[in-house]
Parts: sequence; C-alpha cells; structure tokens
Amino acid sequence: MLASIAYLLDLLIHDRARADELQDLRKRLAAAPPPGRVSHQEALLALELRELRGEILRALGEVQVCRGCARGHPLPHGRWDGGHCCGGRTAHLFTDDEVASLRAGGTRAWHLRGPHSEHAGCSFRGPRGCSLRPADRPNLCVRYTCPELREELRARGDLAQIDRMCDRLLVTFTRFTQARARRRDDEVFGELLGGGH
Ligand code: SF4
Repeated sequence: MLASIAYLLDLLIHDRARADELQDLRKRLAAAPPPGRVSHQEALLALELRELRGEILRALGEVQVCRGCARGHPLPHGRWDGGHCCGGRTAHLFTDDEVASLRAGGTRAWHLRGPHSEHAGCSFRGPRGCSLRPADRPNLCVRYTCPELREELRARGDLAQIDRMCDRLLVTFTRFTQARARRRDDEVFGELLGGGH
C-alpha cells in the first residue's frame, strides 16, 4: 500500500520511466534482508561501507571537473553540464549486491527519492548532482574516479589518499558480497537438508 502511494506521488513529480525505475528499485530494496536478518559479518561490513562512502565523499569535497564533464555530449549524458558518469541506467548501478549492502546498512525505501528535474540517465541524477545521501548511494558510484577527476585530485595532491580509501571500499564491498554469498548458500542448503533428511 505504502509502495503504491509512493509510486502515485512519483508519477505526479516525475516522468513515467523514472517513476517505474524508482518503484522497481524500492521493491528490490524492500525484498532484501534488513540488518537483523543478515549474518553478523554482513551487518558489520554493511555499516563499514556506509561510513566509508561518507568519508570518501567528504575527502573528495567540491571537485570542479564533475560540474562540466557532460557538456556537449549526446543525450541523456549531455542533458546537464555535469555528472557524465551518472548518465547510465539505474538498474545497472544498483546491482543485487549493491542493493543488499544498502539495505543491510540501513537504507530504506523512502530514502530513495529522485530530484525534481528531467530524467537523464540514472534516476537520481539532477542538474546539481546526485539526489541521494552518500550513505544511500551504490559503492561503485562513490569509488569510481574518471581520468579527468583523477587529474584534478593529482593536482590537488590527495589522489593517493583517495585511492587508498577507494581501495578499502572495494575490498570491504568484496568481503560483503562473499559473506552474503556464504549466508545464501547456508540458507539454500539448510532448506535442502532440512527438507530432505
Ligand atoms: S546513484 Fe547518484 S552517484 Fe550513482 S549514478 Fe545515480 S546519480 Fe550518479
């Protein structure tokens, strides 16, 4: 019921394609296990990822290249001056592992709100960047640094430090996906063994 109200509200604000994408993502998030229904290790890693995403975005601060990197590109990427790497498809960014880590880390359906602007690539992309809090963004979005951004960070003098943080995010995310796979294997075999013996 709440999901359909959210969808109707989205239809008032957004185009149909974005409303559909938001609804699909919220359903997938709601279907993923909440913090109390994942393994202890998954829950700890999901919280660590949440913290790391915020730390990395604070370290990145106000970068300049992301404001003009999409200028002159074909649609949807070129709809806004900035955020070229946000011009992809929402479902490609929010993989099952990403959605699982967000849910286990505390992201809820109502945190997933799109910007009040034209739909141009990812559902959360707007003219002023991403409408999601750092904690609610996919890990890939936070750790990806394009060549132009890397050049800016190098000139600023903190590329190496940010690379280390992004590496840690990747390692932690990999450990999360492994812990998730182990728990899911245990669930499948628990059912098989419980039902057959
Ligand atoms: S979730 Fe945010 S950061 Fe990631 S692609 Fe979409 S708009 Fe960009």
